[in-house]
Amino acid sequence: MAARNRWLPHARKRHAVPADLSPAQPGTTLCGVDLVVPAPPLPAVHRYWPTCVPCDEAWRRMEGIPTHAERVAARATGTTP
Ligand SMILES: [Zn+2]
Repeated sequence: MAARNRWLPHARKRHAVPADLSPAQPGTTLCGVDLVVPAPPLPAVHRYWPTCVPCDEAWRRMEGIPTHAERVAARATGTTP
């Protein structure tokens, strides 16, 4: 299955956006921030920006992957998320 989202640098964080957005196209991140998709090449420093937590949680829910909070809670209770 093709990826539904991809990660982009914006406002000093790595946000997830729908994978079908093209460079210079306006869109909205999974956390609800409006942006214009930057054109490559992106400066390498963007790779070190922190991941946006709300985008990460939304992406994990879409992909069926437990969130960090769910994993921590499961570890504390001894259950499987
Ligand atoms: Zn975000």
